[in-house]
Amino acid sequence: MTTIKLHNTKTRRKEVFEPLDKDNVRMYVCGPTVYDRAHLGNARPVVVFDVLYRLLRHVYGPEHVTYVRNFTDVDDKINARAAESGRSISEITAETTQWFLDDMAALGALEPSIRNDPDHQKAMPRATQYIPQMVAMIEGLIAKGHAYEAEGHVLFAVDSWREHYGKLSGRSVDDMIAGARVEVAPYKRNPMDFVLWKPSSDDLPGWDSPWGRGRPGWHIECSAMAHELLGESFDIHGGGNDLMFPHHENEIAQSCCAHPEGEFARYWLHNEMLQVEGKKMSKSLGNFFTVRDLLEQGIPGEVIRFVFLSTHYRKPMDWTAEKAREAKETLWKWQNLTDGAERNRRPYLDVIEALSDDLNTSLAISLLHQKFKEARTQDDANRFFSTLSLLGIGQNWRDGVRKSVEKAFTTSGLLDRLIEQMEEARAKKDWKTSDQIRDALLEADVRIQVTAKGIKRELGPDFDPTKLEALK
Ligand code: AMP
Ligand code: ZN
Repeated sequence: MTTIKLHNTKTRRKEVFEPLDKDNVRMYVCGPTVYDRAHLGNARPVVVFDVLYRLLRHVYGPEHVTYVRNFTDVDDKINARAAESGRSISEITAETTQWFLDDMAALGALEPSIRNDPDHQKAMPRATQYIPQMVAMIEGLIAKGHAYEAEGHVLFAVDSWREHYGKLSGRSVDDMIAGARVEVAPYKRNPMDFVLWKPSSDDLPGWDSPWGRGRPGWHIECSAMAHELLGESFDIHGGGNDLMFPHHENEIAQSCCAHPEGEFARYWLHNEMLQVEGKKMSKSLGNFFTVRDLLEQGIPGEVIRFVFLSTHYRKPMDWTAEKAREAKETLWKWQNLTDGAERNRRPYLDVIEALSDDLNTSLAISLLHQKFKEARTQDDANRFFSTLSLLGIGQNWRDGVRKSVEKAFTTSGLLDRLIEQMEEARAKKDWKTSDQIRDALLEADVRIQVTAKGIKRELGPDFDPTKLEALK
């Protein structure tokens, strides 16, 4: 069996991955807060953990992997969005959840799933569906002396777990107090104590609880849902490295104190952040965009995915227009090779090994460039195509709209006719006409090469037949 090695944030080392149960490898990834379209950065963890999910399925068998990713559908940002837009919370969260699923599917991400359970909804739990589990966990924490009630709030007492708190992110409680911008509240015993439950006024979402009508703090949902769906110990927990502190640190504190018999997550994986053209993505810099914006600009989801995979997940990733352009070219070439190919072969071993080495997707892609150059036979094409699936690429190539457009167009003969006209013009040294046709072809992304045997043409990834209409 392939050995997978993963960099574990908990130990700061690359470790051999050994699941607790090979028949049910379990992973939890923190999902989005649903109040707006996913921006490009939000898509990075989705693609990173999708590759890991596919690798785990390949190694352990698809029916032996469980992957849970939550939707945070109770949050003050959602409440604010509802208040400012005059729309209901449920309308906003339902709409945004569907947007997220559609956009991530466009990037080739598989939906999470629970082993032996076809109900995808359960693998993508909504926080609001797990309030009783959260309340039960908070009650347990209070009973064990790890949490206390104060002015309608319930807080986690970090001093009750002081020697462990901060281990994941490598800080001590004292460092954290010195450096953090924590909310100072008179009812906190320690400034680092964090909210498990807070009171809700009548105009805010709330649930009855032993501490009055209120709503959960953010961190408790992941602890409660992971416990309910994966148990007190499971294999992998993932998310962006901006979540390491406080979110993941707090998840660990809650889960390990509520269920000391378990270890919670055994391997912690964090992806680095995404930037745009070398700068932090932000609305004020004008370089903020959503996945949907890019899709609508005609950048295929597969191109976005490919650009993501070309940088290792633990390195900051820089999104640039140039990288997107290059990715499109590469995928276009690869698509031509796999036209008519079958996914009936095992993926290349060295590509599997690259992925198994802490998800070295950039190495996997350079290996694929090499394989592409060396591919000669139909069998090579089949193997290449099968390997691409492991990276989540090539899923939609079969029904590629572009292919059918190309075929319909080519049969119409217009392109042949234009090439003929260009050749005639060249024979007559009518450079003006020849250049005119050439420019129109280039504009439509038909690449031409003048050879001794005549003019060769190749359609580029941006081939647009409508641009040739004028020449008809
Ligand atoms: P948020 O909506 O900010 O809670 O983020 C949802 C997910 O997107 C989390 O897993 C974050 O780590 C991730 N994320 C947010 N911004 C970025 C970014 N610029 N690059 C990579 N991941 C990000
Ligand atoms: Zn979480």
